[in-house]
Amino acid sequence: MEKELAGKVALVTGAGRGIGRAIACELARQGAAVIVNYNGSRERALETAAEIEAFGGQAEVIGCDVSDFSACGKMVEDMVEKYAHVDILVNNAGITRDNLILRMTEEDYDRVLDTNLKGAFNTIRHLSRHFLKQKGGKIVNISSVSGVLGNGGQANYSASKAGLIGLTKSVARELASRGICVNAVAPGFIETDMTQALPEKSREAAVASIPMGRMGSAEDVAQMVAFLAGSRSDYITGQVICVDGGMT
Ligand code: NDP
Repeated sequence: MEKELAGKVALVTGAGRGIGRAIACELARQGAAVIVNYNGSRERALETAAEIEAFGGQAEVIGCDVSDFSACGKMVEDMVEKYAHVDILVNNAGITRDNLILRMTEEDYDRVLDTNLKGAFNTIRHLSRHFLKQKGGKIVNISSVSGVLGNGGQANYSASKAGLIGLTKSVARELASRGICVNAVAPGFIETDMTQALPEKSREAAVASIPMGRMGSAEDVAQMVAFLAGSRSDYITGQVICVDGGMT
């Protein structure tokens, strides 16, 4: 049986590690050629590509800071020139700079918004032109339950992730008539470097707020992204799907 994403080309931002790596691997397992984007972690991005190639998949590594509008434009142009078409965009790249609002610096606010929200705008802005020409495409934005519920100590991060939901719903409306689906996945508390960096007390408190009583895995998120990237979700757009063990 042919794999669901055979012949498709996917760009996954921040795919050197964590959730992005799991998404890149799952899309490749389903047959897509995957462009593994990274910013600081070239070695880890190469590991993701090697993992994909080890099971017979196709991967390529591209460095680009998603918060840089013109660098994103160049990344997209290079991809389109090489592959002739790009079918799937997953905006996964994200950072945290947590602090209480009274202590949050302007720089930490801007950096988080520039990466998490403007980064997604940058890739969508450049790729949507090609999706429109192709009359098809799938965009999946990785939001967060922090963007759905809010979270003390994460005003910048929550604002960026809530902003991603607004971006998702608006672009979904603009592109729906051309067969382009735009959805968001909002993970809960997932075991990665990002959550590993939290103090033990915060991790315990977070786990206590999950009805399923455990953190999720990057693969849990990747399964939902693969569904939204494939043809089984062709009539779903503008949605936010929480993968959170029941948190929201
Ligand atoms: P990690 O901290 O493990 O990984 C973050 C990824 O984002 C890295 O691959 C990093 O690449 C990339 N990245 C950061 N800044 C940039 C940039 N400017 N340009 C390109 N890539 C960049 O995080 P997770 O895997 O946990 O998170 C992945 C996504 O899921 C994020 O958007 C996060 O907000 C979201 N999320 C995570 C949750 C969790 O519990 N873990 C919960 C809800 C949402 P590099 O190392 O190369 O810089």
